[in-house]
Amino acid sequence: MNPRKNTNSIMTRKFTKIIATVGPASASPEVLEAMIKEGVNVIRLNFSHGDHATHETTVQRVRAVDAKLGTHTAFLADMQGPKLRVGPMAEGSLLKAGEPFTIRVGQGEGNANEAWTRYAHFAEDVKPGEPVLLDDGKLRLEVTDTNGKDTVQCKVVHGGILSSRKGLNLPSTDISLPSLTDKDREDLAFALTLGVDWVGLSFVRSAADVVDLRERIEAADSHARIVAKVEKPEAVADLEGIVDATDAVMIARGDLGVEVPMQQVPMIQKRIIGLCQRHGKPVIVATQMMESMIESIAPTRAEVTDVANAVLDGADAVMLSGETSVGAHPVEVIKAMRDIVMEIEKEPHIFHRSADGRFEGEQPDRFVTDAICYNACDLAERVKASAIVTMTFSGYTAYKVASQRPRAFIYVFTGNKAILGQLALCWGVEAFHYDRMISTDHTISDVKSLLRREEKVGDGDYIIHVASMPIAEAGMSNMLKISRV
Ligand code: PGA
Ligand code: MN
Repeated sequence: MNPRKNTNSIMTRKFTKIIATVGPASASPEVLEAMIKEGVNVIRLNFSHGDHATHETTVQRVRAVDAKLGTHTAFLADMQGPKLRVGPMAEGSLLKAGEPFTIRVGQGEGNANEAWTRYAHFAEDVKPGEPVLLDDGKLRLEVTDTNGKDTVQCKVVHGGILSSRKGLNLPSTDISLPSLTDKDREDLAFALTLGVDWVGLSFVRSAADVVDLRERIEAADSHARIVAKVEKPEAVADLEGIVDATDAVMIARGDLGVEVPMQQVPMIQKRIIGLCQRHGKPVIVATQMMESMIESIAPTRAEVTDVANAVLDGADAVMLSGETSVGAHPVEVIKAMRDIVMEIEKEPHIFHRSADGRFEGEQPDRFVTDAICYNACDLAERVKASAIVTMTFSGYTAYKVASQRPRAFIYVFTGNKAILGQLALCWGVEAFHYDRMISTDHTISDVKSLLRREEKVGDGDYIIHVASMPIAEAGMSNMLKISRV
């Protein structure tokens, strides 16, 4: 069988997208190709690890795979953000509950009594009584005193072994670091030269953080869009503002589960997904989804259920981190995740609509387009259409149609190459480059035969077309048409 057809047929039937983080386990051309064939839609470049040259090589390799398979894989460049860490630690440093422990600002090797952090404002920012969480919250300290300069006295609440360079979280502290550190600014500039589609902003605290990043992206003349990572209590408190300001959201459950009590993560996940759908913005569920497959060949039943629940909640995409970057089974984990996703997508529940077709944060100049998008989904449901086709330059109609979670797959035809990769993150969408906009009638029949040729639709299928008339003006969408193959 033609491998390209095979690849596409898998992706045609999968609505929920898969994001894979690339690392030493998956950086080879062979593994990248196998992962994309098995259903990866977005490649995550994690700027917390790896140097620029490595990320650049990954981008080149993925583009070569795309050229071979005819796919449009997106790149998500994830900035490290103000992630705090301890410095090197002596082997076997055991912190004991009830004992004092000192954290110093600067560089040095820690031991059972003290650790170092390079975060210069640490002693200024923390206050007595605030918690200090180490190693994803496995160890817990409480600040007893600070000299406001370079030394913080703590008491160990939950002890354990502290090893080198483990993360340090301060959930109750107002951290004075900007969400884009000096390192992030350099990484961002580099990532934008690679032409990435999405930029991940870590530890977002407010909508202003997103606005600041957008200004930088625009100043660099880039088309990249923003994924705001929700992993701080401040972000949970201002979800509405952040969802409004951003282009997409990642529920970054790793740090989130340390920064807020972890039992709150499931409902926060559901709230964020609902909010994003009402705003027509893609939403990603991330971290520990298939964690045990870093080592094992099969996931735990709890992990299978977690992926299934993310799909049922309505996530646009599910993400893999260590599983694909350093895990032993980077391709098997994609297969397993795709099988779960596709099994759950047989459930009618996942196709649910917002009640009245209004989008939150609706812009006054977009209400005609919004009404068309909503009704395209209604029509598709009525005639059991197998495809909704939109012609778009900005991608706006694709996001709005997708947020209604129609049962029909969404095919986007665009003359704007910049959005082909971006849309790979969006639920139920496959995008094609198309620039033969001659007349509405001609385009509709041309697109129909193209989809027929690609075996996206079969004889007798109904297609819903969302378009703007006259097509040459590329104005707002103002037309719906039903056609039959
Ligand atoms: P990270 O973000 O992997 O960059 O930390 C995801 C998370 O915190 O869950
Ligand atoms: Mn994180």
